[in-house]
Amino acid sequence: MQQILIIGGAGYIGSHMAKQLANNGYRVTILDNLSTGHKQLAQYGKLVVGDLADTNLLENLFSNNTFSGVMHFAASSLVGESMVEPAKYYRNNVANTLNLLDVMVRHGVKNFIFSSTAATFGEPEYTPIDERHPQNPINPYGASKLMVERILQDYASAYGLNSVCLRYFNACGADPAGELGECHEPETHLIPLVLQAASGRRECIKVFGRDYATDDGTCVRDYIHVEDLCSAHGLALQQLLSQHIQGAQAYNLGNGLGFSVQQIIDAAIKVVAEQGYQLKVEEAERRAGDPAVLVADATRAKTELGWQPKFDSIDTIIRHAWQWELKQASPRNR
Ligand code: UDP
Repeated sequence: MQQILIIGGAGYIGSHMAKQLANNGYRVTILDNLSTGHKQLAQYGKLVVGDLADTNLLENLFSNNTFSGVMHFAASSLVGESMVEPAKYYRNNVANTLNLLDVMVRHGVKNFIFSSTAATFGEPEYTPIDERHPQNPINPYGASKLMVERILQDYASAYGLNSVCLRYFNACGADPAGELGECHEPETHLIPLVLQAASGRRECIKVFGRDYATDDGTCVRDYIHVEDLCSAHGLALQQLLSQHIQGAQAYNLGNGLGFSVQQIIDAAIKVVAEQGYQLKVEEAERRAGDPAVLVADATRAKTELGWQPKFDSIDTIIRHAWQWELKQASPRNR
């Protein structure tokens, strides 16, 4: 049985990945410092609590296990915070990732999958955004991810480390079985915030600007179900393990379908109304650094990885996230 190390496997996307890999016959080890992750989400692997800054721990982990591949989901990922605390982002997202890559090289572990982001592209010059789009990040978060993408190219040519960077657009949704989901503190993402406004965990949802150059004036994003993100990782892993992918590759992951903030709110209102819930919407100023439209062109992932997103209906995405939100909001979880 092949053993895969998931860094950040107690977090939102990493925990779904651990479940998918475990269900597909891999043995999963999770390394997570639990800074933003949750022990109870790390159900599908052996959890090692520790930090990528701890090079002794990494050395021991790699000496005591034989990993076929490593997936790295652990990062600081708040754009606003990265503007005021860039050191945290470069240290955690770049320097700590180097510790990981170096221990992999020392132990001859050649297959690496990296969570990258649409934020590496910066202000879009055109949409949908394909892999040829220039990468000019406009915040330290995006810059830190792009630095690792660059490092991976050099590690591929110098050390033979094969890697796939997967650039997520707007990750959302939850485990259809209801076991796993998103629990960020603070929560900044639109769909969980809308649903928290419906469940009563939050007073209202604020719409950040209605004067964008889009059909209804609100920003358009590409919302991609966490299960679909994970299936792309699974396919990339298979191709790395079978050596069909070599060198450093990168793929954009999204549905290619844009939904506006207003469309998300309308879809959520419908879903929550089925159980008699409502939500309050308020208007707010634009949030700094939000481009009007961010939509992915994921053709390359489809043709080269054979990837096909299954959950491109926004209703299904919101339904899964709502099922999870109701669980979080229930009195026994408070
Ligand atoms: N948004 C909003 N209200 C909120 C949170 C987000 O109107 O309380 C908007 C935000 O301005 C952006 C979209 O929803 O246009 C998606 O934001 P999110 O933070 O979920 O993801 P991002 O695209 O920034 O990665």
